[in-house]
Amino acid sequence: MKIENKFPTKDISEEDLKTKFPLVAKKNPTHQSKFEVAGVEFGGNLIPIFAGPNMVESRDLIFDVAINVKKNGAHFLRGGAFKPLTFPYRSEKYTETREEGIKWLNEVKKEIKIPIITEIMEEKFIPLISEVTDIIQIGSRNMQNYPFLTACAKTGKPIMLKRHYGASLRDWLGAAEYILYEGNKKVILCERGVSVPHTHRSTSRFLLDLQVIPAAKEVTHLPIVVDPSHATFWRPWVESMSLAGIASGADGVMLEVHPDPKNSAVDPLQPIDFKEFGELVKKMDRVAKASFNRKVIK
Ligand code: PEP
Ligand code: MN
Repeated sequence: MKIENKFPTKDISEEDLKTKFPLVAKKNPTHQSKFEVAGVEFGGNLIPIFAGPNMVESRDLIFDVAINVKKNGAHFLRGGAFKPLTFPYRSEKYTETREEGIKWLNEVKKEIKIPIITEIMEEKFIPLISEVTDIIQIGSRNMQNYPFLTACAKTGKPIMLKRHYGASLRDWLGAAEYILYEGNKKVILCERGVSVPHTHRSTSRFLLDLQVIPAAKEVTHLPIVVDPSHATFWRPWVESMSLAGIASGADGVMLEVHPDPKNSAVDPLQPIDFKEFGELVKKMDRVAKASFNRKVIK
């Protein structure tokens, strides 16, 4: 069938739903994807929480975080061993732990019994990382790397696709369609902040696009997670944006948590500590119950 782009637009048309991303599009108003990853349900009553450091800095750090976030209610441990750092220069502290970091994630997963989400950046590392991770994270910078999306999709692993900070909802759903097109149905979207002229603080880089949650829910059945840590880049704002994310209908929350935020090897302004995380989980649970009769605590 020849498809013509009759009405190209940055917003989503009826034609797009039928011809550009039919697999991502809702088939009826109540259509919502529900699936389990490591025994945790997505798209249902529970709102899963992913928590952990920005980077898998060391074996000790990842064990400490895993124990503490699990105890405080996280469903998944997050953390990058392979990191898309904005600039190529690395101090010793800033250096990715790469294959070694993946080995620590595997150890922590088995010993502490917490499932893992971690980013893959290059196709050559797909076999190594997909062996260990429960969810493949595709970072915002790779959102439109289509051959890479296809290669990740082919593993059959659940995939979380972060929105690029300059992408429209239409572009984001188009990218998700590449994954579903390979027969991989376990796709989670993640809103992590967009680039705008004003972010209300010189240290803020992005603005959390809460409006994209109800907008996405009008057109797609895929679950959508919010990441207030990367969006705000500012620890004092993480709590309010997490609660607002849940009140906006988010199906999950990704949070950076570090035992000593100021000394995080990467992005030290954004992680919250264990105590703040524990309190936030309880508050998110209350907002989830009050707004959608859902829950954060299993
Ligand atoms: C991350 O989650 O660590 C990350 C690098 O996110 P993003 O791709 O949204 O910048
Ligand atoms: Mn990060």
